[in-house]
Amino acid sequence: MPKTILKVAVSTPLNQLFDYLPTAEAEPTPGQRVRIPFGHREQTGVIVAHTDQTDVPISKLRTVLAVLDTEPLLDKPLLKLLQWAASYYQHPPGEVFATALPTALRQGAQPVIPKSYQWRITPTGQEAHTRKLAKNAKVQSLLLDALSKATVLPEEALRELHSSWSKVMPALADKGWAQREVAAVADLAPEYEQGPILTDKQVTAIAGVPAEGFHPCLLQGVTGSGKTEVYLQLIEQQITAGRQSLVLVPEIGLTPQLLDRFKCRVRGKVVAMHSGLTDNQRLQAWVAAYNGSADVIIGTRSAIFTPLPRPGLIVIDEEHDGSYKQQDGFRYSARDLAVYRAQQLTIPIVLGSATPAFETLNNAIEGRYKHLHLPERPGSAKQPDIHMIDLRQHPLHEGLSQPLIATIEKHLQANGQVLIYLNRRGFAPTLLCPTCGITQECNRCDARMVLHQQRHRLICHHCGAERSRIESCPECQTKLVPVGHGTERLEAALEALFPDYPLVRIDRDTTRRRGSMETMLKAIRAGESRILLGTQMLTKGHDFPNVTLVGIIDSDQGLFGTDFRSGERLAQSILQVSGRAGRGERPGEVWIQTWYPDHPLLKILLKQGYDAFAAEGLAERLASGWPPFSHIALLRAESIKRGPLFHFLDQARSCGTHWQDNGIRMLGPASSPMEKRSGRFRGQLLVQSSNRGQLKQFLRSWRAAISQLPEARKTRWSLDIDPVELF
Ligand code: ADP
Ligand code: ZN
Repeated sequence: MPKTILKVAVSTPLNQLFDYLPTAEAEPTPGQRVRIPFGHREQTGVIVAHTDQTDVPISKLRTVLAVLDTEPLLDKPLLKLLQWAASYYQHPPGEVFATALPTALRQGAQPVIPKSYQWRITPTGQEAHTRKLAKNAKVQSLLLDALSKATVLPEEALRELHSSWSKVMPALADKGWAQREVAAVADLAPEYEQGPILTDKQVTAIAGVPAEGFHPCLLQGVTGSGKTEVYLQLIEQQITAGRQSLVLVPEIGLTPQLLDRFKCRVRGKVVAMHSGLTDNQRLQAWVAAYNGSADVIIGTRSAIFTPLPRPGLIVIDEEHDGSYKQQDGFRYSARDLAVYRAQQLTIPIVLGSATPAFETLNNAIEGRYKHLHLPERPGSAKQPDIHMIDLRQHPLHEGLSQPLIATIEKHLQANGQVLIYLNRRGFAPTLLCPTCGITQECNRCDARMVLHQQRHRLICHHCGAERSRIESCPECQTKLVPVGHGTERLEAALEALFPDYPLVRIDRDTTRRRGSMETMLKAIRAGESRILLGTQMLTKGHDFPNVTLVGIIDSDQGLFGTDFRSGERLAQSILQVSGRAGRGERPGEVWIQTWYPDHPLLKILLKQGYDAFAAEGLAERLASGWPPFSHIALLRAESIKRGPLFHFLDQARSCGTHWQDNGIRMLGPASSPMEKRSGRFRGQLLVQSSNRGQLKQFLRSWRAAISQLPEARKTRWSLDIDPVELF
């Protein structure tokens, strides 16, 4: 009989699992971690499966050194999810598994607090009890009797009832009379903060999400319409039913404020999972989810891999947000995996947004997702009015037009807070010589160096290169002039115009220190800051009830993008920023500065709203065959020399040509929109198919063929499945 062989995921870039023999003492099960010899070192790995077949001669197989866990850390559904993800995203399984575990566990930390289990009597079991079917088996009868009275009993209680409980309970399970499950926390807080009285629309939305079964739902609600209240209610229902909820939020959306809101509003235990935690905090949160003591897990992207032993609900807040897609290494989409996971666990999933991704919206339109709506804000709060300022008619003073300056003044005098949005940090994006026209470029990228005045530095925002600021042109000694505006420059302009009103600037430069963002947000909420200036960081998800004016300094950046998604992104960012205005009692308004007030994208968005905008956008996608009406993958490559890069991409294309009759289209190779970055040339090849299964099949064999190319070893390359950035 063949010996059991363990297939182990080891964190390496190699696209395979590794075969090991179990120790003589124990045969560990899939999901447990093992210490293994790997090359000349020792590593921690996770057992993915048992097998009796291997390509390695049995005599060469090495034996695991130790089994680290007494029970699987990853349960069967998680193991399956991770294997599916590795295969779907064409990524080495070892790295995929590494993503799913907190660092401490990845490195072999022990032990993990074991789960506590309980047993529940089934309806069949109740019937068996009534009909005294177990009367001839004394212990069975005793345990069934106790279970029938209590419905659910923790294992400690069963242990006290009879010493051979651990043998007898599985026998009851085999008969379908009882089932084992991870115990919920016994003591739920009796008191918690009451929420507002829900609006009819909220009540309808909540009723629209079934408590059980796989039901993907799109909750489309305008900004400030009370989506979070809907999530809180649904979570509460799950807690009552003894089930866990997993809530994903965008990368910078997980503020202590949001966490507090959840903590005081739900009765159960809430834990957070995000990159701002220490390794130990992450471990604690993971363990709480794993052993079932956490009722609600709120986290950013990678929290999608958190164990859910008693799964109830998944919520994806701001589901359109770009941060759900990992942009390097294991390029997964947490949103898409979440839908897969909900299906796998047969639980409902709610995707919430004011501006759903076109893909998601299309799923709702075509009936695959249930479409729930919150069309207005509760109470007296109204959606803000949006106005455009035509920059062809209003000259700019330090980036600000006269109508905007006047409006800011009006709102400040009326005691409102003003939010100014400019998604460009630094002082000025360009430093120009007015005589010879030379700009300061990055030596390593096709990009200009951004002037950071306060630090006297020129910084490349693409590769991070820095040099000191120069005052005059190296060619002709003319004094250089900063052109264009970043947040730093706008800050100076606003402070000069409104010296009496405290201003806070929130961007990556001002929030570098841990905790600084939180201090600033506090000052905003306390009303100490009156002018809030910032990039996207300031606008995502925050609830500032006293903001009555939002000013968008430059809406035009996204109007002429090359990516088929630029229009969608522009609309999302305009509406999301606008949504910060008028969330409280006082009405809000939004003023947008643009050179193109007649641009069709802006017009349809502002006159007819997001749905009309999206309908138009989807029609265009359909006509040109872009997602969601096709599926795409991107082969990205980079190299220090341009020649070998394109040679590689040409070769890669040749490897795939014979698939073209099978509905696979290849576009390229082409240079990336920014061809040189960090000293490397970058190019890409886009693959498209109308059939997802076919594309997946193609990618598997194509990837294998590409890795055999001699050029593949001289080039850095990667595959991005369902890319959201096309460069
Ligand atoms: P969203 O998640 O859609 O942006 P929130 O749930 O954060 O919206 O709600 C926006 C604001 O409206 C919050 O201050 C919230 O407390 C308040 N709110 C939500 N629902 C109600 C309601 N039914 N009655 C009164 N206020 C509400
Ligand atoms: Zn650079």
